[in-house]
Amino acid sequence: MEAEGPKASPHVLIFPAPAQGHVNSMLKLAELLAFAGVHVTFVNSEYNHDRLVRYTNILARFACFPGFQFKTIPDGLPPEHPRSGSRVMDLVDSLKSVTKPLFREMLFSGQFNSVSSRSSVSCIIADGILSFTIDVGDELGIPVIHFRTISACCFWAYFSIPFVIEAGELPIQGNEDMDRVISSVPGMETFLRCRDLPSFCRVSNPAEPNYLQLFVEETRQSPRARALILNTFEELEGTMLSHIRTHCPQIYTIGPLHALLKLKLGSETTALHSQSSNSLFQVDRSCMTWLDAQPLKSVIYVSFGSITTMTKDVLMEFWHGLVNSKKRFLWVIRPGLVDGNDADRQTPAELVEGTKERGYMVGWAPQEEVLAHPAIGGFLTHSGWNSTIESIAAGIPMICWPYLADQQVNSRFVSKVWKLGMDMKDVCDRVIVEKMVNDLMVEKREEFLKSSVEMSRLARESVSEGGSSYSNLDRLIDDIRLMNVGAK
Ligand code: UDP
Repeated sequence: MEAEGPKASPHVLIFPAPAQGHVNSMLKLAELLAFAGVHVTFVNSEYNHDRLVRYTNILARFACFPGFQFKTIPDGLPPEHPRSGSRVMDLVDSLKSVTKPLFREMLFSGQFNSVSSRSSVSCIIADGILSFTIDVGDELGIPVIHFRTISACCFWAYFSIPFVIEAGELPIQGNEDMDRVISSVPGMETFLRCRDLPSFCRVSNPAEPNYLQLFVEETRQSPRARALILNTFEELEGTMLSHIRTHCPQIYTIGPLHALLKLKLGSETTALHSQSSNSLFQVDRSCMTWLDAQPLKSVIYVSFGSITTMTKDVLMEFWHGLVNSKKRFLWVIRPGLVDGNDADRQTPAELVEGTKERGYMVGWAPQEEVLAHPAIGGFLTHSGWNSTIESIAAGIPMICWPYLADQQVNSRFVSKVWKLGMDMKDVCDRVIVEKMVNDLMVEKREEFLKSSVEMSRLARESVSEGGSSYSNLDRLIDDIRLMNVGAK
């Protein structure tokens, strides 16, 4: 597996932004690189590392790779900080003020050197929203590759915001018609509406920190990186990728990463890896037994990811809609999903009864396994990119209720471009929830299933030997090895 010589194995430092979706996909890449014999140092925030160790078998899983090590770094927030809902943005500020200088210091002082090989870092794969890593890499002559954990379509939307401003299509004015078409994002001229722009475009209070500017600036740094990695596949996002390539010519599309990992580890997968989880929450596997007892494609899976929060009123609209739809449902009610004190309000008896009859709730599910379960027929999702690509890989049609950031763009592509489901953004009403669930599971089931099954086939092909994502991963590993030779 490894070449000979004292500096045979490259040493890659992987540094995700400290959030579930980012850590999840970058750990998968870490596993793929370690499996190929690359030495990997994975830098986690202290807060997330504690959670990963508490809730998963992560240390045992990675112990089989002698060249792999975890390192931790503070995220700058106190342990009791929720790191979710609107307060997730506090992370952006603390990463800049606390983590950034620490990272530089740790890299310069050799604290990320490999314990097993004593080698220093030969390549950094950093989250694309941590663009300060490029400056640090430049100072030390270490090549930096960006891994952006969002879709290509959203990457391109962020990248194009200056065009939208130049065209006078932003800012969004008070009393705005949110259905106004935004025609200045190349490739999206006909279908992108005001409401489909990344949520940070909705600047409600000009006195608040402008996160749109921040995300646009970060995205605009990616052409300075040696290359860009995206968890997507050519057959899904080829058009958007061709636009991005005019600015970032070296792109490795290696998605769906979870499917690629499964395939690469394949026959060598031990029991340790087969039910692997990168969860920052306690996984409740009891829902798998419940699913086993449900008819084929009869259950709608409901999850809003790791960051979304909602009021109890909104939760109630979803709950009434699900129960009134008379469909079976599996719902992830994550700790902290419901805002504030509201959470304890009494639940009407008909909801308790309806849930007992046809529903099941867990605090956190083994989502990849859930989506692959034959009883699942639909997914009511917040359109986080990991959830979206996992659903695409599993061939499960979606109802999208995007919450923030990239999710508004993803949900538009799911519904309008890929025709893999319906977009429920900006409304939450029990009658609409009920109707959409029935449309997805019954009325329009055949139509959505057809396109979902076809896209799932293309996803599988892309990660199979000779497929685009499979080949791109090999190319990435070759290029990382070449960088190591160059660094000798
Ligand atoms: N996830 C999970 N169990 C759950 C809910 C979510 O394992 O009950 C995983 C899901 O598979 C995905 C990640 O958490 O990989 C969520 O990432 P996403 O980008 O969809 O949303 P975010 O949490 O970043 O908003």
